[in-house]
Amino acid sequence: MQQEESRPKVLIVDDETINIDVLSGLLKPHYRVVAAKSGEMALQRLENQPLPDLILLDVVMPGMNGFEVCERLKSQPRTRDVPVIFITASISESDEIRGFAVGAVDYITKPYRPAIVSARVKTHIELKRRGDMLERLAILDGLTSIPNRRRFDQFLEYEWFRSTRYGHPFSLLLMDIDFFKLFNDHYGHTHGDQCLRQVAGAIVGAMPRTIDLAARYGGEEFACVLPETTLVGGRAVAERILKAVSDLAIPHATSKAAEYVTLSIGIACMTPTLERHSVDLIGQADQALYLAKRNGRNRVAFLEAA
Ligand code: GH3
Ligand code: MG
Ligand code: MG
Repeated sequence: MQQEESRPKVLIVDDETINIDVLSGLLKPHYRVVAAKSGEMALQRLENQPLPDLILLDVVMPGMNGFEVCERLKSQPRTRDVPVIFITASISESDEIRGFAVGAVDYITKPYRPAIVSARVKTHIELKRRGDMLERLAILDGLTSIPNRRRFDQFLEYEWFRSTRYGHPFSLLLMDIDFFKLFNDHYGHTHGDQCLRQVAGAIVGAMPRTIDLAARYGGEEFACVLPETTLVGGRAVAERILKAVSDLAIPHATSKAAEYVTLSIGIACMTPTLERHSVDLIGQADQALYLAKRNGRNRVAFLEAA
């Protein structure tokens, strides 16, 4: 038996209790099943609870009908990717066409064969899981499992643009492990990889705000995007990260900066405007990082833009 929480979740939306009971009986051995007795109740539930992996949706219901519910779900970024299967007594061709037109992945007519419903539900849940996995893989770094460069670029661009509206300062940290080539040479590449994973974990752990993003920027470089953050705030985060990495106490016998693995961090802070670009912020942080390296490594350096 799978752990309850890891089982896919199916939401059944139908105004008739008997229909809900029959479908639930069919699906419960394999899925977590929840139900809503109207389109309105389903939408409300989807707004403030974790999303299901699939929705089985009746077409004819008092109040909002199934087509309207589906259209609404497909128009919202949050619910757009949840697959919807219509289950309905209507066998009209135009209804079936409409079902697909509003975004359903399948359309099942009653009376249905239970085994066929099970098979179709299974297929669409499998597809959804694969899609979710690919989406996750596309934005995560394979070695450290933290967001990758692609995700960093997207996030920075989006948050930078969003911040142009508010005139809040915006900070960026660029970090680079000190003497990492020597670490690899001395301890081997496998230990180097392990070190990168630990450092990534320490960086993420030192950033409690959910609106911030830490990413692997490349090789042994990491970056933190800190929207709505002043230089003072950015420095506080950077100091916390330095401490978190030094607390890992990963021995580095050949480092010229310390006995343990350390980082150098460059900070840049700017107030985004439509005339400025996020690459300017990256350029500043890069210069600051160079400064931190030149001043002895295992430290934070910053440049403040006008
Ligand atoms: P500095 O203090 O000036 O930053 O010196 P450094 O040796 O860290 O810098 P350098 O750019 O010369 O070397 C970076 C090293 O990082 C070289 C490369 O082998 C190592 N590296 C980059 N990506 C990975 C990786 O995925 N795994 C491992 N094990 N090493 C990596
Ligand atoms: Mg480097
Ligand atoms: Mg380095």
